[in-house]
Amino acid sequence: MNSFLGIDLGTTHSLAAIVDENGARVLVPPGAESPLVPSVVALLEDGTILVGNAAKNLSLLHPERVIHSAKRLIGRTKAEVALEAATLPYRIVEGPGGRALVRIPLKDGAYQDWSPEEISARILAEVHRRALAALQAQGREIQDPSLRQIVLTVPAYFDEAQRQATKRAAELAQLEVIRLINEPTAAALAYGLGEREQANIVVYDLGGGTFDVSVLRVQEGIFRVLSTHGDTQLGGDDFDRLIQKAMLEQIEQETGAKPKESPQILSQLRLAAEALKKRLSSEEEGGLEIEVAEGNKTTFHLTRKTFEEWIQPLVERSMRAVRASLRDAELLPADVDEIILVGGSTRVPLVSRLLEEEFQKPPLSSIDPDLAVALGAARQGAVLAGKSQDLLLLDVVPLSLGIETLGGAFAKLILRNTPVPCSHTEEFSTQVDKQTGIDINIYQGERELVKDCRKIGSFKLTGLPALPAGLPRVAVTFTVDEQGLLRVTARELRTGKTASVEVRPSLGICEDEVRRIVSESIEKAGEDMGAREAIDLRNKAEAVLKGTEAALRAGGEGLPPEQAYSLKKAVSRVKKALGKKDEEQDTLALHQALEELSSLTGQLADDLISSAVSKALKTEKNG
Ligand code: ADP
Ligand code: MG
Repeated sequence: MNSFLGIDLGTTHSLAAIVDENGARVLVPPGAESPLVPSVVALLEDGTILVGNAAKNLSLLHPERVIHSAKRLIGRTKAEVALEAATLPYRIVEGPGGRALVRIPLKDGAYQDWSPEEISARILAEVHRRALAALQAQGREIQDPSLRQIVLTVPAYFDEAQRQATKRAAELAQLEVIRLINEPTAAALAYGLGEREQANIVVYDLGGGTFDVSVLRVQEGIFRVLSTHGDTQLGGDDFDRLIQKAMLEQIEQETGAKPKESPQILSQLRLAAEALKKRLSSEEEGGLEIEVAEGNKTTFHLTRKTFEEWIQPLVERSMRAVRASLRDAELLPADVDEIILVGGSTRVPLVSRLLEEEFQKPPLSSIDPDLAVALGAARQGAVLAGKSQDLLLLDVVPLSLGIETLGGAFAKLILRNTPVPCSHTEEFSTQVDKQTGIDINIYQGERELVKDCRKIGSFKLTGLPALPAGLPRVAVTFTVDEQGLLRVTARELRTGKTASVEVRPSLGICEDEVRRIVSESIEKAGEDMGAREAIDLRNKAEAVLKGTEAALRAGGEGLPPEQAYSLKKAVSRVKKALGKKDEEQDTLALHQALEELSSLTGQLADDLISSAVSKALKTEKNG
């Protein structure tokens, strides 16, 4: 049976799962290896690369070469991560296009720059290697190429750049991403909530260093993210730090030692604090013996009650984000059908207690919160494997939709990745005087010019009042329903005259094609912006010309001759710059000519007004 692996690429841990004839499960490699790989990569001075626990264990000794939290950097510029970079112990530098890179020192002042994609690729490769080892141990043929195809998860708030970079990481690991899905959607799929007729779902994800909450609505198998909130600096690590701090205080008081000065002891305390925290999730109290130096020991003891007092403000902070997310989704706690717990830190009993108080119902907890996202991704893979590739299951608009405007520009009314159903209206006007009909040409794509997009439909709105260009007001509305059906309506606002058409934009477009179109638009972005600016400039120049000529007709005779002369000269310069063909259009010359004309017409308008005012004043006096 063909099935895709699901991979949860987490900030602190990553994991693979599969759905096949043996059911949905996390792939546990044979021996002592854990399926849960810490998302940490280390580069040693001699060039050795470590991934997972081996890397994590060095983190306090060699903070500058142990890279954790690469997910915080992926697909982002150095400027965008400036705040988070301050909390990371390794060096971040600016790469091509401003991208954030990690600079790791090597021998003799040399260094290596790694992109977050390369770091994530190592993590993905390691997760994948362990998954294959598990399958092989179960007697499966691991040369099967379908095992390199994966469903990969990303946070719901990831933007296009972050999503693309995550895909690139998978490509670097020689994996093919069949589908990227949102982490909260994956968690909901793990619980089988995709089969509900309709449900409102809150996904509460408290991991090691980040907190995310999402409100989803599922309706006939389609997931919509209604809102997301969170805190990029809140997680289980903060709980560990509170315990570590108390340990340090006690050690200083009781033994007089200064453990803060020793990275080894700090590292040991951090691990001890995390272990004690985990124990307090199932036990009421716990203690451990800490050896600061030969024969210098102390026993640290902590009850769950005290621990909960310490972390209460942090968990409360997450609850405020939950409330904000509900508000944005325009839901009341009572409207929420299910609450899902994701992330290792939701094992802390205080978390589910506060959530239960908030919603007056217990959160779902039958699936291990560490595994839910990977399991859901695998489930999605199983659905896709059983489906024909060219049928797109829509939960968002896969490609931007819009119409052709002046000069062949593409006006996008609905942007790619907008959750369905959605609707957007914009106003347009006529381009020619006394125009009584408008052709609405509908396109789909990511480029700036319609010639680079795909035409998916057209219709004509007729019977417009014969008015000067620019006066009729035509509202164009794009509506995409849950099934992905697009309805475009054009309505002239004065007369109420309306025309519309329905198209199914996803028809005949498969995911590969969507991928190609999006990557092409990224490649051509620079070129497109130039072309788009040139068109916008032409359109503006034409409008200014028209306005000037109209103004001259209306009151031009009264102008002083030298002003009329310079105006006419400026008009002809703009016309000349406009006259050139597209390829040779000298944008700079047009821009300059237009600037000059605009400054003159500005003056003209002032002069016309003041002459009108003085005329009025004169009549008043005389009358
Ligand atoms: P991420 O999604 O950010 O990769 P995880 O979901 O893997 O993070 O969560 C990791 C966090 O969960 C760590 O802070 C870890 O200490 C914490 N954690 C794991 N098990 C428990 C437990 N039993 N009790 C409390 N916290 C736990
Ligand atoms: Mg996670």
